Amino acid sequence: MYFYFYEQFTLSGTFDLVQILFRFSTTVLLLVGGYLFQISRSNFSNHSIIKNLAKYGPVGEIAAQINDEIKDFHNFKVEYIGYSKLIITSSWIVKVSMYNVVFLKISDAKFKLTQTMDHPILFHENSGKQMIDVQAESISDKTKPVTIRVYSREMFEELRAKLGGNVEIVSDIKFKSSLHERFVTIFKQHIYGNPRYNYDQKYELEPCMGCQGIQANIKLDKTCVDSVGEVQCRQCNCKPMWCTSCIAMIFASKQNELNPEEWLSGRAECPTCRALFCVLDVCLLSTPSEDSSDSTTAAT
Ligand SMILES: [Zn+2]
Ligand SMILES: [Zn+2]
Ligand SMILES: [Zn+2]
Repeated sequence: MYFYFYEQFTLSGTFDLVQILFRFSTTVLLLVGGYLFQISRSNFSNHSIIKNLAKYGPVGEIAAQINDEIKDFHNFKVEYIGYSKLIITSSWIVKVSMYNVVFLKISDAKFKLTQTMDHPILFHENSGKQMIDVQAESISDKTKPVTIRVYSREMFEELRAKLGGNVEIVSDIKFKSSLHERFVTIFKQHIYGNPRYNYDQKYELEPCMGCQGIQANIKLDKTCVDSVGEVQCRQCNCKPMWCTSCIAMIFASKQNELNPEEWLSGRAECPTCRALFCVLDVCLLSTPSEDSSDSTTAAT
């Protein structure tokens, strides 16, 4: 009866659009009701999520396993717009989007880095951020491919480690180096112009405290001239403990993120004795170790 009166309601004479919208939304409502009724009759076994899980084994067991794993603190997680997110547990990839959830077993997946995209509006030029898409495909074709989007090279490396390192990278993919990586290169170029420090080998040189990968190859030695009215650098009396890359990263981490153009003229503290130093005070050691692999990487 209500519907009859509603249909007759032509007060302004331009009610046709409302009528169409009303009929359309009623139809959608009936279709949704019918769909829910149809899938509930078979205990939801026809629902896409249940169908997806059933391909990997008994649904109850799989769901219990995913429930357990999803609580793990070490899961890899990326949040997208709205409720959309992607979670990688120790054995599952779970992609939640607005209208669906897709489960892909890691042992049944192969991964390929498909594209990297720079976005000048979303990401500042110096941010080092870019969109990196990794496509995860089911080897046995049990489910649809899942695209995993991350937003920086660091995130990609984290993702790759989580996936056991087996992500195929197409050769023409170009990664954007982060601001810190670019700074390290420039910092190294500058310190190669500084005077060398003649290290007397009183104490044997040890591996760099930061990376432990190569021998310490710099000494913080004040070579800059004090300027009037500014905070002055101080002499550091620590023995050589860092490599060029690590001291550059330490230096960069103490600078103001918002003004990268001022980083080179900035100062940082020696991590051990807190003496302030500037770029001019980072001196390479004049020992054979300066020809180690680090000097070749600096030149590139
Ligand atoms: Zn190091
Ligand atoms: Zn020091
Ligand atoms: Zn200085």
